[in-house]
Amino acid sequence: MVAERYYPAMATPDDIGARTVAELVLQLGCLTRGEGFIANLTFAQWTALRYISGANRFSRTVSAFADFHGTTRGTASQTIKSLVHNGYMTRKRSKSDGRSIDLTLTKKSKQLLAVDPFELLVDAASSLSKSASHTVEYSLERMLRTMARRQGKRQFGKCPNCKYFQDAGNDANDKADFRCTFVDEPLREAETQQLCVNFQPGR
Ligand code: SF4
Repeated sequence: MVAERYYPAMATPDDIGARTVAELVLQLGCLTRGEGFIANLTFAQWTALRYISGANRFSRTVSAFADFHGTTRGTASQTIKSLVHNGYMTRKRSKSDGRSIDLTLTKKSKQLLAVDPFELLVDAASSLSKSASHTVEYSLERMLRTMARRQGKRQFGKCPNCKYFQDAGNDANDKADFRCTFVDEPLREAETQQLCVNFQPGR
């Protein structure tokens, strides 16, 4: 016998739609999480590798990873420590800010990320049409923003949607002229597509 699906009393069609979306997000998370134990790495260790691989130069630190992963700094520190110990990451004092430690991926972790099971999810997303992809991205981004605000957590994001991003068009050498007004530094084009701990939605 198929179990009846539970809905809160007096659920409207909109409530049911919202619950279905949330359940789908949860299922996707579970499926991706289930792939995490490849190469004897835990899900937290995989998350750290993926995070550092996609984060910009202002965000490759233990405390930023702790915020991203929603854990304490101590827990994040243990995860990073094990990855450093096993040769997946190195720690170096930051050139721009002498007090913080930058995390860098090693060749070993880059080889592992080349066969990252997360790519299955990317593949699944690539089956969406361009317009469906935009709609999903916009919708998930809004959900993420709402969740972060309600939980008082930091939201990570990328330059094109950030209030600190400045796009001054092309410079005299016909190169894109991007700038972060939060740290008051120029940005390379590739950096504008990386995750940032200082992100503030606003564009
Ligand atoms: S513009 Fe925003 S997202 Fe980009 S580096 Fe600056 S703070 Fe980060």
